[in-house]
Amino acid sequence: MIPDTLPPSAARKLELMFDGVRYSPALGAAADHAYPNYYPYRFQPAEPNPTGAAKAPIPYLMTLADDTLVRVKGSGGSPWQVLGDRHTGYGLARDGDDTVTPIAFEPRPRWMDGFTADGFPMARAGVSLHGDMAIINVAPGCEYFLARDEDGNALRCTFCAYGAPDERTAHLGQVAGRTLVEPRTHERMQEALAAALAETTIRHIYLVGGSLPDWREEGRRFIDLARAVQKVVGGRVPVTCGSGALPPEAQEVLHGEGLVDAVCFNLEVWSRELFERVCPGKARFVGYETWLRSLEHAVALWGRERVYTAMVAGVELEPEHGLGWEEAAELAVAGARDLCGRGVLPIYSLYWPVGGRDHPAYLERLRGYFERLTLGAAAARREAGLAFWEGFVCHRCAYMQLECDVDRAAAD
Ligand code: SF4
Repeated sequence: MIPDTLPPSAARKLELMFDGVRYSPALGAAADHAYPNYYPYRFQPAEPNPTGAAKAPIPYLMTLADDTLVRVKGSGGSPWQVLGDRHTGYGLARDGDDTVTPIAFEPRPRWMDGFTADGFPMARAGVSLHGDMAIINVAPGCEYFLARDEDGNALRCTFCAYGAPDERTAHLGQVAGRTLVEPRTHERMQEALAAALAETTIRHIYLVGGSLPDWREEGRRFIDLARAVQKVVGGRVPVTCGSGALPPEAQEVLHGEGLVDAVCFNLEVWSRELFERVCPGKARFVGYETWLRSLEHAVALWGRERVYTAMVAGVELEPEHGLGWEEAAELAVAGARDLCGRGVLPIYSLYWPVGGRDHPAYLERLRGYFERLTLGAAAARREAGLAFWEGFVCHRCAYMQLECDVDRAAAD
């Protein structure tokens, strides 16, 4: 049964997603052996700071006792802190409560400190881990950042801070306007992926990358990437194609050659109006209806529970969209029902607003929205007789999403 409130682990995860954890010596010490966080901890001016530095490295991911994965978000005002050490075990404590919740940190794997045969650092070869998922991203630069509308506005998605083609992508040899990734980049990725598979239990492989204005070219790039990945994987681990929507011909190659086991074409928001405002590049170069048809075509090829679409949950609460949180949740749940009716499973990642929008009233609305949407989408899955396929994602890798945590509790 789908509950009408979040099950305990999902509720704790949601709390930690919003509250974060404040710095403690135990958290700092864990950074020595944990999978590294991309964002260092930034101390607030009046916050106790035992390091003497403005920033400190912290772990990226922690797991609760039942393997629920949670992203570590550093937050000076948080009531949560990490206690313990590597040898006795770590725990989470909340101010005013004596209970200590046991946690562990995802370890830093040895391969991340290794080098490819040509001396390139494996940590920069386009392979990263979220728990038991390996993410392959050898062309992160998104060309929607370079395209402009008639008024000169970039056509990137409004929420996107990670797709800009810049110096962070230069080491991968990505060149704007060129579809195929350099063979040397694929070879380095293959070495890093092989090392990751040898060291860690990987249960899912997820192919991602920036978008191209021509979806046929994006299809060519992902086919090339999937072939390179399968040379290492050989069908031993499920692979998902996390590209933009792809044309039927590209899907047929990916399916026909058995290159990927599932696809996830990210619609990001529900409703044509929001899609056009939030994802102007996707709207212009593919289009809302075409995106939906592409997802339906994928269902016809791969079948139910193999086709997903990731959504940015909460971007609708930005003031320019004029939606209250209840209205936004209702619209998003209606979208979940529609998508599930097409055999497509939406997966919702919490949108974290940038630019200091951390007013408690705003965060309360965002939290109310996310909780209601999570439960509404779970009900939509149940009504459609759909569940997340464990080859796509599970509670050990979904660090910003609650679907697997909710469905797991409902199945118990
Ligand atoms: S398609 Fe949108 S979300 Fe994806 S990388 Fe490009 S701008 Fe970012």
